[in-house]
Amino acid sequence: MKDKIIRGTAKDGMIRFIGGITTNLVNEGVKIHECTPTSAAALGRMLTGCALMGVQLKGEKEAITLKINGGGPAGSVTVTGHAGGSVKGFIGNPNVDIPLKPNGKLDVSGALGLNGMLYVIKDMGLKDPYVGQVPIYTGEIAEDLAYYFTVSEQTPSAVSLGVLVDTDYSIKASGGFIIQMMPDSDPLLADIITYRLEEIPPITTLISEGKTIEDIIELIFSDMDPKISSEIVEPMYKCDCSRERVEKALLSIGQKDLNEIYDENKSEEIVCHFCGTKYEFTHDDIGKLIEESNK
Ligand code: ZN
Repeated sequence: MKDKIIRGTAKDGMIRFIGGITTNLVNEGVKIHECTPTSAAALGRMLTGCALMGVQLKGEKEAITLKINGGGPAGSVTVTGHAGGSVKGFIGNPNVDIPLKPNGKLDVSGALGLNGMLYVIKDMGLKDPYVGQVPIYTGEIAEDLAYYFTVSEQTPSAVSLGVLVDTDYSIKASGGFIIQMMPDSDPLLADIITYRLEEIPPITTLISEGKTIEDIIELIFSDMDPKISSEIVEPMYKCDCSRERVEKALLSIGQKDLNEIYDENKSEEIVCHFCGTKYEFTHDDIGKLIEESNK
């Protein structure tokens, strides 16, 4: 089944929702970074949240970055997404391996740690990006994003993100949804949604059973007349790095450091954090770059 993100409204526009299945894209990211199950869950939830939030962007040039840095053994996780549904990300320590929680679930909050912030950076192509931040709330990511929406964007929200890792460390199911209440909605409606979400099985269970994202939305909003928008996004794991971009990054370290690398007479290998592509710069390449930048 292809990955898919849909959005829409329910209860006469009082509720808006974005929901998606992201199994393939998370699997791709987890494969690139050779993640353990715990780091796969952390990275996968972040990628899914970012893909869902990316749907709210408008222009092709707009981008959203989520970063969580809680001081835990997994290090920080950074993900970036675009309006078209492409996302990429990396986790500080993809080898993190800590015991399961007493309830048998992967300990994402233990891996990420609770001493830090969740950052939401929206680059709208303007001079300065919008940066929102909230202290890490549970470290399980979905609740942290809900907390961000509620506190920082004043939009009461429910967020669910799930990643089910198979025994061979591939991703069996991944997906999530964001449900937001409009400012003038009945506060009781939020309570009803909260109860409803407690009643339904975890999203990864539903996806594993073969449910589509439309089925899942119907299940949540069965009696609330959900209206799904005709616009469908097919999210994917995609990195936009290129040799040209890496050259620019290399130049940004400054003339002095670049000269030092040149003088050491070694070649430099730069690996893209997001996709693992290796960019090789020989002694001559670095010499040319220095020459170009001096023009
Ligand atoms: Zn890359």
